[in-house]
Amino acid sequence: LSVGVPRETLPGERRVALVPAVVGRLCSRGVGVVVEPGAGAAALIPDEEFTKAGASTGDPWSADVIVKVNPPDAAEIARLRPGSALIGFLAPLTDPDVARRLREAGVTGFALESVPRISRAQSMDALSSQANVAGYRAVLLAAGECTRFFPMLTTAAGTVKPASVLVLGAGVAGLQALATAKRLGARTTGYDVRPEVADQVRSVGAKWLDLGVAAVGEGGYARELTAAERAEQTQRLAAEIAGHDVVITTAMVPGRPAPKLVPADAVRRMRPGSVVVDLAGAAGGNCELSEPGRTVVHHEVTIACPLNLPATMPEHASELFARNVAALLELMLVEGRLAPDFSDEVIAATCITRPAPSGAP
Ligand code: NAD
Repeated sequence: LSVGVPRETLPGERRVALVPAVVGRLCSRGVGVVVEPGAGAAALIPDEEFTKAGASTGDPWSADVIVKVNPPDAAEIARLRPGSALIGFLAPLTDPDVARRLREAGVTGFALESVPRISRAQSMDALSSQANVAGYRAVLLAAGECTRFFPMLTTAAGTVKPASVLVLGAGVAGLQALATAKRLGARTTGYDVRPEVADQVRSVGAKWLDLGVAAVGEGGYARELTAAERAEQTQRLAAEIAGHDVVITTAMVPGRPAPKLVPADAVRRMRPGSVVVDLAGAAGGNCELSEPGRTVVHHEVTIACPLNLPATMPEHASELFARNVAALLELMLVEGRLAPDFSDEVIAATCITRPAPSGAP
């Protein structure tokens, strides 16, 4: 079996789908890896590191399986061989065109967004590994923009109060943000519409904010709120938001626009010098004033809405992503061949396009 690793072409992307250590692990299982020259350059991984680990450099698109971080664009899909397979983020809910084109191209697509949230699939869960990076980076971004300290300081010039950080949406990114802000010395509070995460919020040293609105969906995700629930939540949250120096938002509902948890009016009531970091930009953002991909200032409050924080930490983000990809690939490897068992719950959920059996790789 050959696995191809193209260079990512999305502007600002610095990650790469496999790293040398994982290439070594795959090669030891009889897999050949072809890396496009320069594929790891933006993650500071030179081609020689890949070749030392057992890969060759060359055209990755003629391989049996292509592994990628971002969904392929039209030009990339045109380079895929019929009968080949593609593993990566494929935007199955937000850009169904990708799946349609892959189907037309006769390619078997495995979308990492669709890995089920079950224990057995945790090692393949790239949404989680990348959300961890985003949550961590969001706090550092907030600390950099905030005009005040995060930790309490007792100095000869007097005492400085710790910052208070509110995290809205306590999934993977939110919990990592709470943990990171705590390590920097802030007072932390977490909020979510899934009451079962209250204990997880407390376990990272944060206070749980209970607004009495619960919206548990399927597969461990939240559901969208009704209009009445939304109005109640917005009103109660606005009062809370005003009292915090930093608000980090991560609230998402799969395939739906992000809930607007931070209205313009709530930002206006924050202290000047405060910061909002909105991680839901890809789904339109959680703050009414967010401009996805930009940092703006309103009422002397900085509102950052970065679209791809994992790409800003390409070394570890790529390493974790590569392990997720390898775990999924290994689940489908039988005696050095790709032989997906489509009755396996993880593979069935992850496979979003599959040509007629005669064309399968
Ligand atoms: P996500 O990115 O879809 O959403 C982030 C958070 O926003 C979620 O916790 C969600 O409940 C919350 N949210 C949505 N709408 C909201 C609203 N209106 N107000 C406030 N909060 C709102 O979620 P995620 O981080 O990918 O993870 C979702 C859950 O799945 C987490 O509990 C996580 O622990 C769990 N999970 C389980 C596994 C596993 O068992 N293998 C793997 C990964 C994640």
